[in-house]
Amino acid sequence: MRELFLVEPIADENWQDRALCAQTDPEAFFPEKGGSTREAKKVCLTCDVRNECLESALMNDERFGIWGGLSERERRKLKKRAV
Ligand code: SF4
Repeated sequence: MRELFLVEPIADENWQDRALCAQTDPEAFFPEKGGSTREAKKVCLTCDVRNECLESALMNDERFGIWGGLSERERRKLKKRAV
């Protein structure tokens, strides 16, 4: 019997396949301490999977790099606000 799927899956497990940063300079997303994050954040603004990326970083407690357009420090602030 053929099944019909009328709803989209809640979580997109393959979101990384659509990560825009994979097509750019990955080092921009992991700058040296004090280095600029501007270019990476600009890329994130137009990334289709920004929410998935940020959610994943928060869930996995990612310590380094730009994820979902936010730095580690910005993610920490966001987490504190959510508590
Ligand atoms: S939001 Fe930024 S870091 Fe996350 S997948 Fe997209 S481009 Fe990469």
